[in-house]
Amino acid sequence: MKGTIAVGPGDGIGPEIVAEGVKVLKTVEKKYGHEFKLNYIDIGGISIDKHGTPLTDEAIEVCRRADSFFFGSLGGPKWDYPGAKVYTNTAGLRIRKIFDVYANLRPAKIYPGMEGCSPLKPEKVKGLDLIVVRENCGGAYFGEPKKQWTEKGIRWAVDTMLYSEPEITRILKVGFELARSRRKKLASVEKQNVTETGKLWRRLAIEMSEQYPDVELEHVLADACTAWLLREPTRFDVLVMGNLYGDIISDEASTVAGSLGMGSSAQLRGLGTDEEKPWGYYESAHGSAPDIAGKGIANPIATIMSAAHMLEYTYKLRKEADAIDKAIARVVLKARTADIMEKGMRQVGSAEMGDLICAEIEKG
Ligand code: NAD
Repeated sequence: MKGTIAVGPGDGIGPEIVAEGVKVLKTVEKKYGHEFKLNYIDIGGISIDKHGTPLTDEAIEVCRRADSFFFGSLGGPKWDYPGAKVYTNTAGLRIRKIFDVYANLRPAKIYPGMEGCSPLKPEKVKGLDLIVVRENCGGAYFGEPKKQWTEKGIRWAVDTMLYSEPEITRILKVGFELARSRRKKLASVEKQNVTETGKLWRRLAIEMSEQYPDVELEHVLADACTAWLLREPTRFDVLVMGNLYGDIISDEASTVAGSLGMGSSAQLRGLGTDEEKPWGYYESAHGSAPDIAGKGIANPIATIMSAAHMLEYTYKLRKEADAIDKAIARVVLKARTADIMEKGMRQVGSAEMGDLICAEIEKG
């Protein structure tokens, strides 16, 4: 199989963790006889420094000509502060919108032996394996009006949570389909008690559930969902929700699963089952971690897992994606980066963690 991947290491720990993801892709290439052409782009703060904008038209073109985009992270205090001309995260939001990757899949799972990394009691998280399906191109992050202004000496700001029926139904469909391929349990998360978007969301979820009689649908209010994730996270399998709730709840879920450094993501135009190479945007769920950038200690596992999602969803290389997953499972039984360190384990940096995972993939 031949593929072309746009690669954007970005800022902070981005270059360190993407280097490990690329190492893993090269190992998969060699072992399974594939060929991935990697085309690097500048994105985020580094692009502001070099080109005066967080995302150039040339970078977008590179992404367009590729089958997928493999990304590190962007942002940091040097560029993102109140009053900055442009925030780095506009680059990520622009790519989402241009490529219409409306479904953001954010898995949170505990590898056996890692239960002690969770802030919750180990018995509460044993077997945790859920996916947050976050609507990615609408809601409060994109709705208009969205602005700040001053009136009679008082400063105001507004964001608008706006959703149309097609936007909600297409993400609900991803939730139902994914649930059908897993444990057939779907939690639809909104705030129908206080928001109009929530009321429409719930109504549409109920209507769609008629097409999926085999999937058990439950409705969960977003605030209750954050509490359930702490009390009984294993009750969930697939959760589907709007952009803002999905951003917050997926970070909570990956923290419950051990560390932000374990939270991967795939941003897709649906599940792409009927397309040959559905375009996808793959990145860890965490940010650029400026506090540890350049130290070589960041956990690269979320980014490596995101590379595995790329193999699974864009290239349909399920066996190779599974091989990465199994390699990670074996490595975390003996070696850990600082954020997931536990007694009895060997502490390693980002590069060694990448090397160990590659060695396990090679062993098969
Ligand atoms: P963050 O996710 O970068 O970091 C939060 C905490 O988690 C930090 O203590 C950090 O050291 C730790 N952490 C994160 N990833 C880790 C990893 N792989 N290994 C070990 N520890 C890890 O969130 P933040 O500090 O709120 O944001 C920092 C910058 O990242 C901000 O500029 C923000 O806008 C940006 N950001 C970018 C993205 C993205 O690129 N997609 C997402 C979220 C935040």
